[in-house]
Amino acid sequence: MIYLDHAATTPVPKAVADAMYQVLTEQFGNPSSQYTYGQQAKKLTDGWRKTVADALGCEARQLFFTSCGTESDNWAVRAALWQNRHLGRHIVTTAVEHSAVLQACAWAEKDGCEVTYLTPDHSGNLTAEQVLAAVRPDTALVSVMMVNNETGCVFPVAEIAAGLKKKNEKTLLHTDAVQGFLKVPFAARTLGADFIALSAHKIGGPKGIGALYVGDRVRNPRPLLPGGGQENGLRSGTEATAQIAGFAKAVELRADGLEEKLRHMADIKAYAKMRLAEIPDLVFVGEGTAPHILSLSMPGYPSQNVVNDLAAAGICISAGSACHRGKASQVTAALGLPKKVAAGVVRLSFGPETTEADIDAACAALKNHHDTRFPQL
Ligand code: PLP
Repeated sequence: MIYLDHAATTPVPKAVADAMYQVLTEQFGNPSSQYTYGQQAKKLTDGWRKTVADALGCEARQLFFTSCGTESDNWAVRAALWQNRHLGRHIVTTAVEHSAVLQACAWAEKDGCEVTYLTPDHSGNLTAEQVLAAVRPDTALVSVMMVNNETGCVFPVAEIAAGLKKKNEKTLLHTDAVQGFLKVPFAARTLGADFIALSAHKIGGPKGIGALYVGDRVRNPRPLLPGGGQENGLRSGTEATAQIAGFAKAVELRADGLEEKLRHMADIKAYAKMRLAEIPDLVFVGEGTAPHILSLSMPGYPSQNVVNDLAAAGICISAGSACHRGKASQVTAALGLPKKVAAGVVRLSFGPETTEADIDAACAALKNHHDTRFPQL
């Protein structure tokens, strides 16, 4: 099997699985319990939190574990709206956010909020000026993702944060960094965002564990899940210690020699672009600079057929985001692509393990699809 869908999820290294197994079988205590097992679990969890916080560039006290990136996004949107409920009910976001943010905004609209959805240009990019121009005195929240999961476009979050201070210093800024963490360089302490959402399974960690950075401008963030008061009273539910251990181990492994890993992924992406250019009519979709994501289209060849043919050849790629399962995505729609191009968008995404031989095999399979199937659109 050749796996070229690292933006959907990533393989879990054995060391991560081992760390989780040890917690499940030996260090299984509940961090809230008073006896040794519990104290041990609490101490370990504090250490794992510090590992993730260090990699994010923040204090451990600013990092809260959640069940996934989706929960983190939802919490950030709700907490920002709550803090700024007296300022206003206007949200600025982009039309190409992950559904976790878009659906949280859609719910907010049902509750009476007004949402401005900004559209990127044809290259998939968005400027800080565009975002800031949409901010009003009643804007409670700006939510702009760090790296788009389909185009790999990197949005100017630090520039937006700096501009927001002048435009409306009370507006809170959330960034969904699920595809940005340990993929593009940034540190929470200098980024200027108030909320940053992370997910472990995009960097070699297990599924079902995420985190939310909450900056110091957020006062008493309202919990999304009230209950037993874990995570310093802000995210209830017994800590998923094995998942958290896996998250921390994945961060530790990924952060080790990170620059080299990112260079490798960027080289792989450049190699893929070079090889794919050999396929007649193939076009690249968006001008994303993140090292791990490449979107393309063979106009006239429906993406689901391409994905199925490659799957039959043992090559895993996706038709846009894995979450859409065949439906045209909001990203494809927002880019205003010609119909034939839009219907053929597929995404290749890479990890530190991806080799040129993987790319060669994918290119050969795509070329074979092009040469042996009739265009249907
Ligand atoms: N945000 C982005 C940009 C993503 O790519 C994803 C997952 O695909 C998510 C959020 C959701 O993360 P999770 O699967 O941990 O809920």
